[in-house]
Amino acid sequence: MSSSTMPYVIGNWKMNLDVESAMSLAEASAEIANETADDVGVGIAIPSLWIPLISSEFFETSLLVGAQDCSPHAAGAYTGDVSAPMLSPWCAFTLVGHSERRQHHGEDDDLVRAKLDAVIEHDMAALLCVGETEAQREAGNALDVVGEQVLRAAGHLDSGGLRNLLVAYEPVWAIGTGQTATPADAQAMAAHIRGLIAGLDAGSAPEVPILYGGSVKAANAPDFFSEGDIDGALVGGASLDADDFLEIVRAARQTGAGLLADDAR
Ligand code: PEP
Repeated sequence: MSSSTMPYVIGNWKMNLDVESAMSLAEASAEIANETADDVGVGIAIPSLWIPLISSEFFETSLLVGAQDCSPHAAGAYTGDVSAPMLSPWCAFTLVGHSERRQHHGEDDDLVRAKLDAVIEHDMAALLCVGETEAQREAGNALDVVGEQVLRAAGHLDSGGLRNLLVAYEPVWAIGTGQTATPADAQAMAAHIRGLIAGLDAGSAPEVPILYGGSVKAANAPDFFSEGDIDGALVGGASLDADDFLEIVRAARQTGAGLLADDAR
């Protein structure tokens, strides 16, 4: 099976930047998004505090503004949390299940599924993050572990829900470490994920963007983007540098991730 989606390059700023640096990086990211709007979806997942400011400032650009997390609850006594109805007026998408949330906040697949449902119910796209630990890969369990994460979080979605789903395959051991999966291993995992989605709804499977994440840089991005089932990247560290981010977005356009790869096949 091959993909027929537009490629996406999404920056994850994590808990970085003061307000001035955030505004100037958002401005640079919006320029990148406008430059490549016909060919690549460009987004940034930003600290929740900056969301209304950045979303309203760059509303008329092609930049997709997103959140990094979201409560599964709509409202109530959940001190410190931000809900999907609060994010929805400002955000095109929200990350759910990032490995740093799983690791530092003990999020399990049931919670990730509840968050994913809240995001989709409130008219945003959910970017579901999945990935195995180093020990799980060494034990030969990577495909099973990631497959279970996908199905436990998104296995209940019908074609309507799948239209609002993106998946990022991010091996835990590659996030922020400078190590990456091999493009062949990342492709094998992306194909596995697409096969599982086809089991839910065959017609939707080519349309669900499957991204690779884990130390993506301008130098290695083309190797991932030329794989048939990899439709772009979730980029942490390199998204904090406008020049690096621009190069990664251009690589998605030039090497033909997603739809462009399909056209070239
Ligand atoms: C991430 O934050 O999802 C990520 C992939 O980070 P990095 O690109 O820095 O590895």
